[in-house]
Amino acid sequence: MFDTAAFANHESVHQFYDKDTGLKAIIAIHSTALGPAAGGCRMWNYVNSEAAMRDALRLSEGMSYKNAIADLPLGGGKAVIWGDSKTQKSPELFRAFGQAIDSLNGRYWSAEDVGVSPDDMKYVSEQTRFVAGLDDGDSASGDPSPITALGVFKGIEATAKRALKVDNLEGVRIAVQGVGHVGGYVCDFLAKAGAKLIITDINKESLKQVSQKTGAVIVAPDDIYDADADVFSPNALGAIINDNTLARLKVKAIAGGANNQLATDEMGEKLRQAGILYAPDFVINGGGIINVASEISGLYSLPWVKSKVETLTQTLGQILDTASSEARPSSEIALELAKARIAAAHS
Ligand code: NAD
Repeated sequence: MFDTAAFANHESVHQFYDKDTGLKAIIAIHSTALGPAAGGCRMWNYVNSEAAMRDALRLSEGMSYKNAIADLPLGGGKAVIWGDSKTQKSPELFRAFGQAIDSLNGRYWSAEDVGVSPDDMKYVSEQTRFVAGLDDGDSASGDPSPITALGVFKGIEATAKRALKVDNLEGVRIAVQGVGHVGGYVCDFLAKAGAKLIITDINKESLKQVSQKTGAVIVAPDDIYDADADVFSPNALGAIINDNTLARLKVKAIAGGANNQLATDEMGEKLRQAGILYAPDFVINGGGIINVASEISGLYSLPWVKSKVETLTQTLGQILDTASSEARPSSEIALELAKARIAAAHS
């Protein structure tokens, strides 16, 4: 593990096994320089333990940067449970996972991620208080998607202002990929702001609902890259910005909530050369973790959450401006800023 690229100077990595429930979990703590490590728990049927470890390390490092860029008093961590979320879940398994988290005495805070629901987290919370993203409880705030979407909407505004030289989104054509939890709310905000929407999803029912509400034009999933649009807003999958899609995109800006949008780090520079302004994903989609941070504080406050989203939007604007003035990829500038904040906390 220490020799792999994914290791990336993690502070500690913990492996848990519970014979009775079959729990196999990894909790990776990348950094606690800014505060206790926070990041969701993913349940996934990895091909082997190496793949599970790689995913835990990669995701946990990413959380350090996301939390730092959102200026939260939180470090980066992530948990993965190795198993099939359709067949291997049980209350006992999540209780055992709760005990694993509790054994770290608050160095890691968990929440739900892919394959794990708020219901699962209820069993976790029976064993530990170091868990957020619950539906009920003193400081629970439920689904973070509306706040994530608010941040994405404000990020689209900030990016469009710079890329299109517009004052607002009235009449701006925006191609939205994915109208699920985040994308659906993003479409609501955009429609209210007068944007013209082109949407796609593999879920026909969601498409119909969003189209009826917002007047959006529906296109087939693969046609979204060819849409005549000003902005592309990915809110579904990762790795969708690659050489193939870049060759097809006609937009001047990319701004959306999906995680890990760039297929490779080099795509940041390729986007810049293509004249496409890119809102780095881990900056624009930080609203959800801001919401979680407020829960972790023990005193959930929506005004605080909204003011942090506002600050995050300003940070995004500064990143985009620096990228333009220094003729460098915005993704690189964002990463540098996050790393500098962590290094400053260390020293
Ligand atoms: P979701 O599952 O509710 O929505 C994703 C949508 O994408 C679904 O409607 C799905 O049908 C659609 N989709 C899947 N494959 C597609 C394809 N090939 N083409 C078009 N659409 C497709 O998930 P979500 O919570 O809305 O999250 C969306 C993205 O935002 C993910 O990348 C997630 O990691 C990221 N994100 C979410 C949050 C949050 O608060 N929920 C926070 C930060 C980042």
